[in-house]
Amino acid sequence: MGEKVHLCPRCGRGLSARFLLPGHSGAERVCVICAAGHRSFVHDGVRVSAVVGTLLTAVNQGQVLLAGDLTVSVAARVLFTYAVPFAVSLFTSVHLCAAAAGPGEPPAEAAGEADAS
Ligand SMILES: [Zn+2]
Repeated sequence: MGEKVHLCPRCGRGLSARFLLPGHSGAERVCVICAAGHRSFVHDGVRVSAVVGTLLTAVNQGQVLLAGDLTVSVAARVLFTYAVPFAVSLFTSVHLCAAAAGPGEPPAEAAGEADAS
Protein backbone atom coordinates (compact mmCIF):
# COMPACT_ATOMS: atom_id res chain seq x y z
CA MET A 1 0.00 0.00 0.00
CA GLY A 2 1.17 3.49 -0.74
CA GLU A 3 3.57 2.10 -3.35
CA LYS A 4 3.88 4.49 -6.25
CA VAL A 5 4.50 3.02 -9.67
CA HIS A 6 5.84 5.54 -12.16
CA LEU A 7 4.77 4.79 -15.70
CA CYS A 8 5.49 6.60 -18.92
CA PRO A 9 2.39 8.66 -19.80
CA ARG A 10 3.00 8.03 -23.51
CA CYS A 11 3.52 4.27 -23.67
CA GLY A 12 2.92 2.85 -20.19
CA ARG A 13 6.44 1.47 -19.69
CA GLY A 14 8.12 1.83 -16.33
CA LEU A 15 10.21 4.94 -15.76
CA SER A 16 13.81 4.71 -14.64
CA ALA A 17 14.66 8.34 -15.40
CA ARG A 18 12.97 11.51 -16.52
CA PHE A 19 13.74 13.55 -19.59
CA LEU A 20 13.30 17.27 -20.17
CA LEU A 21 11.88 17.27 -23.67
CA PRO A 22 12.21 20.37 -25.87
CA GLY A 23 9.06 22.40 -26.39
CA HIS A 24 7.78 21.87 -22.89
CA SER A 25 7.99 24.33 -20.01
CA GLY A 26 9.02 21.73 -17.48
CA ALA A 27 10.48 18.27 -17.21
CA GLU A 28 8.15 15.70 -18.66
CA ARG A 29 8.65 12.23 -17.28
CA VAL A 30 8.78 9.85 -20.20
CA CYS A 31 10.69 6.61 -20.74
CA VAL A 32 13.97 6.49 -22.62
CA ILE A 33 12.29 4.96 -25.69
CA CYS A 34 9.78 7.82 -25.93
CA ALA A 35 12.55 10.37 -25.36
CA ALA A 36 14.65 8.79 -28.15
CA GLY A 37 11.66 8.97 -30.48
CA HIS A 38 11.13 12.69 -29.87
CA ARG A 39 10.68 14.40 -33.21
CA SER A 40 13.37 17.07 -32.78
CA PHE A 41 15.96 14.47 -31.69
CA VAL A 42 15.26 12.32 -34.73
CA HIS A 43 15.39 15.35 -37.03
CA ASP A 44 18.72 16.45 -35.50
CA GLY A 45 20.07 12.93 -35.98
CA VAL A 46 19.04 12.88 -39.63
CA ARG A 47 20.69 16.26 -40.24
CA VAL A 48 23.93 15.25 -38.50
CA SER A 49 23.92 11.93 -40.33
CA ALA A 50 23.40 13.62 -43.70
CA VAL A 51 26.35 15.97 -43.22
CA VAL A 52 28.81 13.75 -41.35
CA GLY A 53 27.83 10.57 -43.18
CA THR A 54 28.27 12.21 -46.57
CA LEU A 55 31.66 13.66 -45.65
CA LEU A 56 32.94 10.38 -44.20
CA THR A 57 31.57 8.41 -47.14
CA ALA A 58 33.34 10.74 -49.55
CA VAL A 59 36.61 10.41 -47.64
CA ASN A 60 36.45 6.66 -47.02
CA GLN A 61 34.58 5.27 -50.04
CA GLY A 62 34.77 8.12 -52.58
CA GLN A 63 37.28 6.49 -54.91
CA VAL A 64 35.48 3.14 -54.80
CA LEU A 65 32.12 4.76 -55.55
CA LEU A 66 33.52 6.97 -58.34
CA ALA A 67 35.09 3.89 -59.93
CA GLY A 68 31.67 2.24 -59.91
CA ASP A 69 32.83 -0.67 -57.73
CA LEU A 70 29.77 -0.74 -55.52
CA THR A 71 29.59 -4.10 -53.76
CA VAL A 72 27.38 -5.30 -50.92
CA SER A 73 30.32 -4.83 -48.57
CA VAL A 74 30.84 -1.21 -49.67
CA ALA A 75 27.10 -0.51 -49.46
CA ALA A 76 27.03 -1.90 -45.91
CA ARG A 77 29.96 0.30 -44.92
CA VAL A 78 28.21 3.34 -46.39
CA LEU A 79 25.05 2.53 -44.41
CA PHE A 80 27.06 2.21 -41.20
CA THR A 81 28.84 5.45 -42.03
CA TYR A 82 25.45 7.19 -41.96
CA ALA A 83 24.06 5.18 -39.04
CA VAL A 84 26.87 5.92 -36.59
CA PRO A 85 26.55 9.75 -36.53
CA PHE A 86 22.76 9.36 -36.32
CA ALA A 87 23.12 7.10 -33.28
CA VAL A 88 25.68 9.38 -31.63
CA SER A 89 23.45 12.42 -32.16
CA LEU A 90 20.38 10.62 -30.79
CA PHE A 91 22.27 9.26 -27.76
CA THR A 92 23.71 12.71 -27.01
CA SER A 93 20.30 14.39 -27.26
CA VAL A 94 18.67 11.87 -24.90
CA HIS A 95 21.61 12.04 -22.49
CA LEU A 96 21.52 15.85 -22.39
CA CYS A 97 17.77 16.06 -21.87
CA ALA A 98 18.11 13.58 -18.98
CA ALA A 99 20.87 15.70 -17.45
CA ALA A 100 18.82 18.87 -17.97
CA ALA A 101 15.90 17.33 -16.09
CA GLY A 102 18.06 16.89 -12.98
CA PRO A 103 17.64 14.10 -10.46
CA GLY A 104 14.36 12.29 -10.77
CA GLU A 105 11.89 11.33 -8.11
CA PRO A 106 12.90 8.37 -6.00
CA PRO A 107 12.12 4.95 -7.41
CA ALA A 108 8.89 3.24 -6.38
CA GLU A 109 10.59 1.29 -3.55
CA ALA A 110 12.02 4.47 -1.96
CA ALA A 111 8.69 6.26 -2.33
CA GLY A 112 7.05 3.37 -0.50
CA GLU A 113 9.57 3.69 2.33
CA ALA A 114 8.93 7.43 2.54
CA ASP A 115 5.20 6.77 2.85
CA ALA A 116 5.78 4.28 5.68
CA SER A 117 7.71 6.75 7.88
ZN1 LIG B 1 7.36 5.74 -23.06
